[in-house]
Amino acid sequence: MGNTLNFSGGPGALPVAVLNQARDAIVSLPETGISVLGMSHRSDWFLSILDEAEHNIRKLLDLPDRYALAFLQGGSSLLFATIPMNFATRSFAPPEYVSSGYWSSRASAEAGRVGPCRVAWSGQRTGFCDLPELDALDVAANAAYLHYVSNETVEGLQFAEPAREVRADVPPLIADMSSDFLSKPVAVERFGMIYAHAQKNLGPAGVTVVLIDRALLERIPEGLPSILDFRTQVTHRSNYNTPPVFAIYVLTLVTRWLLHDIGGLDAMQRVNEAKARRLYDTLDKLDDVVTVHAARPWRSRMNAAFTFGDERLDAAFIEAARERGIVGVEGHRSLGGLRASLYNAVTLDAVDTLAEALTEFGLQRA
Ligand code: PMP
Repeated sequence: MGNTLNFSGGPGALPVAVLNQARDAIVSLPETGISVLGMSHRSDWFLSILDEAEHNIRKLLDLPDRYALAFLQGGSSLLFATIPMNFATRSFAPPEYVSSGYWSSRASAEAGRVGPCRVAWSGQRTGFCDLPELDALDVAANAAYLHYVSNETVEGLQFAEPAREVRADVPPLIADMSSDFLSKPVAVERFGMIYAHAQKNLGPAGVTVVLIDRALLERIPEGLPSILDFRTQVTHRSNYNTPPVFAIYVLTLVTRWLLHDIGGLDAMQRVNEAKARRLYDTLDKLDDVVTVHAARPWRSRMNAAFTFGDERLDAAFIEAARERGIVGVEGHRSLGGLRASLYNAVTLDAVDTLAEALTEFGLQRA
């Protein structure tokens, strides 16, 4: 069955061409004749991979030089703690957090363990099915930063792009883009920091990409443990301690695929929009028997969370889907129901198969 009909919320599907190269590299890398799993992180080969990974991401995003780029470990969850440790200093008002779902609530809860923070907006009252307009939020201009999660992986909610203009009355924007990074272009200039773990659109688990405006690095207080201070990996070009060589290698293969096979992020966005349209059109046609969690304007192009109405029916759909080779459509444990994730490597053909399975199952219940 391989990877082709994997709708998992993460780790997610990776491009078949990348998996084939990764398989070969585990046995023997064409460039070196030894397994990628035994390559030294100080080897010329790996240093060139690190350079290429950075170069490719910079090219895909058209990233201005003023942003430092680093590959970190510890996942996005470690960043929930290290972002306030690095940036919520006494010179600023407490950081502001948008609490729009499971992951952003985890981020703000963690920040609260580090020091004071303020929840600028919460979707809890309405069951996390809608989002605010970022640019209309009432936040303190002198707050350390404003944090949000661009795509709520669990609830299937996705923010619209914030306006491009950098505003003096808004603190630096910090976005967890773990589940939509490199799925579409992004106006990077608007952000103080962007971070994303790899295991959705970029590669296997084990590496997290961070982009940080160098002006923010100046704010970091002295005295943090070196490994938690963002300047450490930036200064050591992501090679201060042993990085996850394999994960960074596969991520590099994915960036090559995005640049050369897909043709960049505009092209990737077109494919992703087409996939999402196909899925939501199917769900909307079944609206007598299916409920989509997200309010319409905020529906995510990456994750659709929905339900046939009760646990028994959802379980029956998971089984019916499995018979067609579809896997990974169970909802997150915190929300239940169903979820189909449409990350970059999920093909339109795979979405067609899912749409057929949904239609057949749904019409039997209508
Ligand atoms: N943020 C988002 C948006 C996520 O989807 C996830 C996990 N799926 C996390 C953070 C947590 O990431 P990690 O497991 O890398 O700590």
